[in-house]
Amino acid sequence: MARPKVAFYWCASCGGCEETVVDLNEDLLKVAEAVDIVLWPVALDFKKKDIEAMKDGEIAVSFINGAVRLGEQEEWVKLLRQKSGLIVAFGSCAHLGGIPGLGNFWTRDTIFQRVYKDAPSIENPEGTLPQVKTGVSVGELALPEFYDTVKTLDQTIPVDYYLPGCPPPPDLIMKAVNAILAGQLPEKGAVLAPSKALCDTCPRNETKPEKLSIKEIKRPWEIIIDPKECFLVQGLICLGPATRSGCGERCIKANMPCRGCFGPVDGVVDQGAKMLSAIASLLGVEEEKSMTEKDVQKLVDQVVDPAGTFYRFSLPASLLRRRRME
Ligand code: SF4
Ligand code: SF4
Repeated sequence: MARPKVAFYWCASCGGCEETVVDLNEDLLKVAEAVDIVLWPVALDFKKKDIEAMKDGEIAVSFINGAVRLGEQEEWVKLLRQKSGLIVAFGSCAHLGGIPGLGNFWTRDTIFQRVYKDAPSIENPEGTLPQVKTGVSVGELALPEFYDTVKTLDQTIPVDYYLPGCPPPPDLIMKAVNAILAGQLPEKGAVLAPSKALCDTCPRNETKPEKLSIKEIKRPWEIIIDPKECFLVQGLICLGPATRSGCGERCIKANMPCRGCFGPVDGVVDQGAKMLSAIASLLGVEEEKSMTEKDVQKLVDQVVDPAGTFYRFSLPASLLRRRRME
């Protein structure tokens, strides 16, 4: 029997999602035996024309990581949508926009100004900027268009399933691959991870009181972090109350607060807003008096880079989506 065809593709991402596929170790060999990999640019030399020549729907499933920032990425994901039965948004950037999505606080012009003109290490006396088309003596050179706005995968093409995480952990990947091979997938649109908040599975949960008494918000490098106590009790912002579980509490076990890479639980649209409301409801007592709205505001004002803290992985997927364009 013919093995199902599988594609891996990457858009705007750091490459960590590709590494996590390699981290499957011996399971990768089992996957390679069970499926026919037809595209994996980071590891194997397939060409776009090979995919274009396929019948529509011929690829059983395409795992796409990365957000959509460039015209070339948009073309590729549209091609893969046409040729694939299932599309899985693989990792935080495809799922929610991820770290590249923080670019939505700027525009193409302001990013180009910084990167190609103002950065201290730049030597560009003529102020040359990348162009989509450039005439040269032997013809025309083309570069993909750089969009003003970073999009999630499902803001570009319909997505069937989401594998969350920065990167998704190997056990969740294998569970998803086995479910696909066995035809035992949940309803379309599902995130293939538990819909519980990380706090519910966190080993420090017992030390998280009903109401918190935070006097000062700190950044991790400013204190010696207690390895057992809830980070919020220690005055560190931990996105556990607003983040989906399933990662194996990776950061918590490394004594770092959760930054929210698994995104919100089912039914929550805006992870950042959810975290802000979780903090506001937790902040109940200070020296046995209720905190006033002013006290809470004073505390939240201490968060350096609040947008980057609460929307680190999810800005393009949030209600804010991007900074308003001029
Ligand atoms: S806030 Fe963070 S450290 Fe505290 S219980 Fe939740 S996930 Fe664990
Ligand atoms: S602890 Fe939070 S940031 Fe770290 S891997 Fe888990 S969900 Fe992602």
